This record gives sequence, C-alpha cells and structure tokens, in this order.
Amino acid sequence: MILGKTLENWYASHPLIRDLVELKETSWFNPAIAPASEALGDVCLTAQDVADASARLSRYASYIMRVFPETAANGGIIESGIRPLPALQALLAQEHGLQPGGALWLKTDSHLPISGSIKARGGIYEVLKQAEDLALAGGLLQAGDDYAVLDSDKARAFFGQYKIAVGSTGNLGLSIGIMSARLGFQATVHMSADARQWKKDKLRSHGVTVVEYASDYSVAVAEGRKQAESDPACHFVDDENSTNLFLGYAVAAERLKGQLTAANIVVDAEHPLFVYLPCGVGGGPGGVAFGLKLTFGDAVHCIFAEPTHSPCMLLGVYTGLHDAVSVQDFGIDNVTAADGLAVGRPSGFVGKAMQRLLDGYYTVSDEELYRLLALMERSEGIRLEPSALAGVPGMARVLGEQQGYRARVGLSAERLAHATHLVWGTGGGMVPSAEMEAYLAKGRQLLPD
Ligand SMILES: *Cc1c(COP(=O)(O)O)cnc(C)c1O
Repeated sequence: MILGKTLENWYASHPLIRDLVELKETSWFNPAIAPASEALGDVCLTAQDVADASARLSRYASYIMRVFPETAANGGIIESGIRPLPALQALLAQEHGLQPGGALWLKTDSHLPISGSIKARGGIYEVLKQAEDLALAGGLLQAGDDYAVLDSDKARAFFGQYKIAVGSTGNLGLSIGIMSARLGFQATVHMSADARQWKKDKLRSHGVTVVEYASDYSVAVAEGRKQAESDPACHFVDDENSTNLFLGYAVAAERLKGQLTAANIVVDAEHPLFVYLPCGVGGGPGGVAFGLKLTFGDAVHCIFAEPTHSPCMLLGVYTGLHDAVSVQDFGIDNVTAADGLAVGRPSGFVGKAMQRLLDGYYTVSDEELYRLLALMERSEGIRLEPSALAGVPGMARVLGEQQGYRARVGLSAERLAHATHLVWGTGGGMVPSAEMEAYLAKGRQLLPD
C-alpha cells in the first residue's frame, strides 16, 4: 500500500505515475492552470514583498561591491545575463522536427557571481535579510546608513555572536556558507551524501563548518533543523518553507524584464514567453515563476523540469498530495547526477500555492542531461552542470505536447511563431575544470562525432 492505495489503484487514478515509477521521461501540462489575476492570490506574498526584497538588495549593493569585487562592474547587484542559443536551437529543431519560429535563449544563472548558481539569489538574500534584521535591532545599523560599514571588524564581531545553518545538497550550502562567513556569522552547512567533495572543500576554505551525512537531502535538512532549534542564537535557513528564499529568487523577474527590453524582445499575448526552470525542492523555480507571473501575467508560461529519478514536484502536484508524498514512497530512488535536483519530497508551500500558476512539469533522464551538456558546449561553447540542462528539452515538449495544453491556453501557431523560449541555466560556473571535463566526456559519448 502507498498512502492508502495499491500501486495498481494509483496507476488507474493517475496514469502518469506509471511513467514516473518506470523512470520514463514524461510531461504533464496542468489542467488547473488559471489566469494570473486569479491565481496570484493563492500565494501569500505580493508584488510589494518582491519590491521590498529588491530594495533590500539595492541597500546592500555598496557592501557587496566591496567584499565581492567581481560584482563591482554591475554596481554590487548580483545578476546574470541572457544570451541567444541559435546553434543549439537549430540542432534541437532538427532532432525533434519542430516548425521554424520562435527563439531559444539562455538565462546564465550558472555564472552568477559569488556562488555560480541560482542559489546566489535566494540563499544570499536570506542571509542579508537576517543580517539586516539583527543589525537594525542591535544598533549596528540605522535606517539610511551606507551598508558598506558592514565591512568592518566591528560588524564582523557583532555577527560573530550569531549562527546560520542550512541543510543542502551543495549549491545552497555554498551560497549561504560563503555569504554568512563573509559577514562574520558562524556558519554550518549540513550536507547530504550526494554533495560533491569540491563544494565541501570550498566551504571549509571559507571557514564554514561542514557536517556530512550518509543519507539524502531530507535527512540533512531535518538534522540541521533539529540542531538549530535548540540554539536561540542560530537562524536555520529552511529550504522547504522559507518565504525569504522565495522572495530573493522572485527579484529575478523585474531584472529579466529590463534585459528582454534591452534585447528588443517583446513579451505579450501575441509574443509569449516560455521559461523552463530546473526544480529541486521548488523554492528557486517557484520564486522565479512567482516574480515572472507578477511581471508578465498570462504572457509568461512557466514550466518546471526534474530528473526522472527525482520527480518530486510533479508527483506532489499531480497527486495533490504535495509534501505528504515522496518519490521514495513509490520506489523511485532519488539518485541523480543533477546536483540540486536530488530532492525526494517537494516544498509543500510552493506546490500548493502555485498549483494554478504553473503551466506544466516534465522529467528528463540523467543520460539526456549529459548529452545536452555536451551538445550545449559543442554548439554554443557554454559549460553548465548537469542540472542546468534540464530546461533545454522544454521547448520541444511544449511544441510536441498532445494533452490539449496549447489550445487550452490559447497558444495558436501564429503566437508560437513569435515565442521566446528561455532556458534557466541554473548552475555550473564554479565547477572545477577536471569535474567539467569528466561531465563533458560522459556527454560526448552520447553525441554522434
Ligand atoms: C537548487 C538548484 C535548483 C533548484 O532549486 P530548488 O529551490 O531546489 O527547486 C536548480 N538547479 C541548480 C543547479 C540548483 O543548485
């Protein structure tokens, strides 16, 4: 029995579960999609909350620029660029027999400064929020101060009284650990068994305490939470439920809008924008998608991508069980090469709040992630980590779907011919070159010469 039903009963009531259990690549387009004007109300956060988060990041810009000089060129704002992928698009169109039209682009969060992944948005934002709350309450900062004063021994000694802890498969730990340690916090990262050695080494070199677990992400998070709860000086960054992480991600949307405008890309009903977001626990893609829906309304279509071995969000939303179900409940092993996506149980908060806002979900095999990793490098010269390729199949999934989705949301052939497809490249910029060569070698074996 699985949550009160036999597997055969689950297959009868929810046929796609068979594909998930058999680890077949699958897509599910959301039959409950609703207009943004209605469905945004399901999320307990508002445009004002995102604007506050954006303003907070601006207040910190003078500090960030000082302590991370690589951000100086962008005025201390941690942001990534967008770039077109014409050669990759041509190859994918040929592979899948796609109609010409539309344009494929990449959001290069893989190359965000400081931690080289999308976690440099939410993770760093939450640490900065916590630091600001403490500094204002403790008299270290007054409203209106230049936050560059936080780059001082006095400030570091102040933050040194406090602790920040997080459970992570790797990238969140890097962002939280590096930012916390730089401010002066005592930082602890609880890491799951699948976390890469170089990430642990990097954190330790920044003075972060790394606690290693033999088990998966959920256990690392639960242990970290337990240890933090018994310590009032410790702030635990809760990847499964944090609204601060979520808001840090959501700020991406207004910035993307500026970048699209600068690239002369129109987004409206006649020129839809599709965004393909790799999903682990859901906070990152959920936050970005929330911001995108606030910014572009029904003209943006957000689709989540997961590994075939860790389809936790698809399973949670499709069954309506959300965080009450894990992939392991169905015998799916949650073992994948896609760092950051090896999550067996989704955030309950994201799946529930966003179930009428997201257009769809699909899964990708690890082998395909490696193949696309090599194809991306060969066609565009861009190096990403496996998880960051999960968004690449999205365009073909949308254009080839047979579930009535395109008709349901009014995506005519003419509109699709004017579409922009944006792959959210979530990580890879800090992968050591030996690791990257190994990824590429694996992927190239799957490509024709
Ligand atoms: C964490 C991560 C994601 C997904 O973010 P979640 O908030 O866990 O859903 C995607 N890609 C990479 C590289 C990540 O590190």
